[in-house]
Order: sequence, then C-alpha cells, then structure tokens
Amino acid sequence: MSSTVKPSLLAQTKQDLETIIDELGERPYRVKQILDWIYTKRVDKIENMSDVPAKLREKLAEEYTLHTLEHISVNGAKDTTQKFLLKLDDGRYVETVLIPANIGDGGIQAERRTLCVSSQVGCAYGCKFCASGLAGFTRNLRPEEIIGQILTVEKISGEKINNIVFMGMGEPMANYKNLDKALDIITGQWGVNIGARRINVSTSGLAPQIKLLADRGQQIRLAISLHGATDEVRERIMPVNKKYPLKELIDALRYWKTHSKQKFTFEFILIKGVNDSFDQARQLAKLAKSLHAKVNLIPYNTVEGLEWERPALQHCKDFAAIVHKAGVTTTLRNEKGHDIAAACGQLRLKQETAEGIIEAPVKTKK
Ligand code: SAH
Ligand code: SF4
Repeated sequence: MSSTVKPSLLAQTKQDLETIIDELGERPYRVKQILDWIYTKRVDKIENMSDVPAKLREKLAEEYTLHTLEHISVNGAKDTTQKFLLKLDDGRYVETVLIPANIGDGGIQAERRTLCVSSQVGCAYGCKFCASGLAGFTRNLRPEEIIGQILTVEKISGEKINNIVFMGMGEPMANYKNLDKALDIITGQWGVNIGARRINVSTSGLAPQIKLLADRGQQIRLAISLHGATDEVRERIMPVNKKYPLKELIDALRYWKTHSKQKFTFEFILIKGVNDSFDQARQLAKLAKSLHAKVNLIPYNTVEGLEWERPALQHCKDFAAIVHKAGVTTTLRNEKGHDIAAACGQLRLKQETAEGIIEAPVKTKK
C-alpha cells in the first residue's frame, strides 16, 4: 500500500517545495504562500488555497495530497492527559498523547503542552515489557504521518503544542530517514516551528543513529531507554542490547556529548524483581555519573497481556535515593500522566485486535 500512496505536501521541506515549484515553472513566491496555507492557516485541502491560481492548485493536487489523519477517539479529560487514537490511510492505527503542563517532571513552565508522537506502527525491537512491541512491526510512519499527528491534535484540541517527545509507538531511530525529514519540518520556522530544544527523541539505543542525530547539530534532546544498568539485566528485557551492547551504546553517547549541543537522559523503568535491585541502582548511578547524564525513573505501567509489575512506591523511592546520593540528577516520575503516556501502544493494540487486524497477543511470562 505505502508504495502507491501519493506524496504529501506535509512531507516537503521548504527546500523541497522550492524545487517542486521551480519544476512546475512557477514563481518562487508561491512557496511562501503555500507554506502559509499549510502551517499558518491550516487548510487540509490543496483546493482551499484560495490565492494560489486554480491552475497551480490543480497541478499540485494531481501529484500531491494534503490529507491528514482521521481522528477516531480521545480518552481523558481536557485538563489532564488526553490520548488520541488516529487512523492512517491503510486502516492501521497510531496513538498520540497530549500532556499538559502540570504532568511530568518538576520545574516546567506553566504553559507547556507536550505531544507524545508515534513513529511506527508496532515496533520490531520487541522489548519484553512493552505493548508496542507485542504484536511485532508493521511499518514505518511517513513524515506526513508524523507531522499529521501534531496538526490533527492541534485542530481537535484547539491547543498549540510547544513540546514534542518521540515516546509513542515505535522506535524513531529505526525510521531515521523519515524522522530526519519530520524534524526538519517540525523545527522549520516556515513549518510547524517548534524549537529543537523542545523536542525529545527517545531510543532503545540504536548506536549509529544516535551519532547521526548528533550530527544534525541542533539542540534536540535525547532520551535513552536504558532499563538495565548491566548487559546481563538489559539483555534479558531488551533484545536490542545484543546488537548494541552497553559498550557500543556508551561509545555513541560519548559521541553525542562531543557533537550535539544537548545533554541526554537515561530513562529507567522500574520493574519488580527484574531491574530494581539496589545493585542496579548503584551501577546506574556509576554509568550516569561517568557520562554526566540525568536519570528519569519510571515505575512500570502494567500492560494487558503481560505479567510484569511495578515495585512498591517505597522501593522506588529507595532506588531513586541511591542514584541521587551518588550525585546524579534524578527524578522519580509521579503517577498521573504516565499511566496513559508511557503505555503508548495499548489503545492501538485493543482497536486492531477488536477489528481482527492483528491477533490478540499471547500472555507472556517472565
Ligand atoms: N522506542 C523508543 C520510544 C518509544 S517507547 C524507546 O524505546 O525509547 C517510550 C518509553 O516508554 C521508553 O522508555 C519505553 O521503554 C517506555 N515504556 C514502554 N512500555 C512501558 C510501560 N509499560 N511502562 C512504562 N514505560 C514503558
Ligand atoms: Fe520498541 Fe521502544 Fe517498545 Fe522497545 S520500548 S519495543 S524499542 S517501542
């Protein structure tokens, strides 16, 4: 299906559009007009760009679409975290989560509205604890489907999004080409216009792509889903560790430190009896300290079909205290937002299972 899809104007950078307009023999100022219609006036049909000549609109519409995603449902109240289920052209689903200011780590600006976007349908990396990986990998999202999540949620919610985290379904670094293009469009002042410092890309640790992202030279933030402070523990729950063991990941992170303009964060989900020993806490502290990384601890969010559990809150606090005392900036994420946000993939799993698109995941034991 994806190979027959018409290209979208939402997948074009300003430079791409300049080439398109030039090849159509049109005047360069049309580029600004078109971008204005897409990102300022927010039309979703080429025919509605009323001050663009009809002939040009026709030519564009023959070759391109401006179609965004279909909104299926929204879960959650307006003043809390809202989870949107969106339908793609080929009938598959993705999830996008809008997180308002009062949720997340401390000290953030009052007006912060973060969107947690998906980068793939499913995920090939198969982390044992994760709903997105449960039904395997279907396909990459195209740039317009990544941008479309932002535009669609802004349209439905009436909110202006000013932070983006790539922490929804999928492994963004495994879809690097489309991620790269989407980042150009999101950070472009002519485009979605969200500053690089307000974008956070989360990865399970794809070392070569970490280096590529560092080479963009922007102040994009990076989150590493560590979830195990030693190869032994990490490998048990994250198959990616076989491909890129800690040594290689650390090497890429050192590259990040010298080439990018941002620090990075270690995300560490606490799963009862799996990675929550105090020895892991000490190892994690050592690793974070040597790389000057911050640590974000997240009590595991139960996934339907999986038997992993979160540790008791006091245990999480004790774990956090060990890391903190070693001199590492540490946060233990509070419950509120992450119930919906961190479990991205579950809503889509439910919908696609109900429609018979995928089979119900088999219960997995530790
Ligand atoms: N593939 C990327 C980004 C998507 S996952 C990555 O792995 O980083 C976003 C974050 O949610 C990751 O840190 C992931 O490990 C975490 N996560 C997945 N399932 C979770 C769950 N059930 N509870 C808490 N966090 C979860
Ligand atoms: Fe994929 Fe990230 Fe889930 Fe692992 S945690 S299966 S990499 S989405």
